[in-house]
Amino acid sequence: MYDWYEPAGIDECPLCGVAFEDGWQGEDGPNQCLVFRQGEAAPVAQEIDPEWPLAEELRAPEIASARLPDGESTIRGPCKAHHWFDALITVANGVWIDTRVVGPHDSAASEIDRWITAGKILGRQPRAVVRCPECSEASLEVQDVLFPDGSGLERWMRCPRCRAANALLVRW
Ligand SMILES: [Zn+2]
Ligand SMILES: [Zn+2]
Repeated sequence: MYDWYEPAGIDECPLCGVAFEDGWQGEDGPNQCLVFRQGEAAPVAQEIDPEWPLAEELRAPEIASARLPDGESTIRGPCKAHHWFDALITVANGVWIDTRVVGPHDSAASEIDRWITAGKILGRQPRAVVRCPECSEASLEVQDVLFPDGSGLERWMRCPRCRAANALLVRW
């Protein structure tokens, strides 16, 4: 079982720019098909597929007191072009206060593809938690350096653990 999640501020897929679907799911909460919305403590609804055999047993008589656990946990969701992402959520005093995109659910095969993917994600979501394409452990730091003529920028990514670094040229 799982719950539904409505994050704030990560509306578009950081890879293709298409809107995310509404179906973010996670398994670290009460797991009663409750709908949690970022910024609110109590679930806003319970959404159980009525076709489901156990639907009636699951229907909670009292959902107002259900809470997400404090700390960090991971949810997942697809964009309308079917790119799946993980996102890291932070809950404090029962209130979901923050969401950060984590790299894609499946990482690309080659190292250079992983760097390109990382650059795209960090371009749209600078606060994303993207793993290092080389050591795959630390989260990349990103710094954008504008060209003096304003025609684009160089997006530098650095790993604080293994010190791998790469840059992506972004022109407009
Ligand atoms: Zn996408
Ligand atoms: Zn690294």
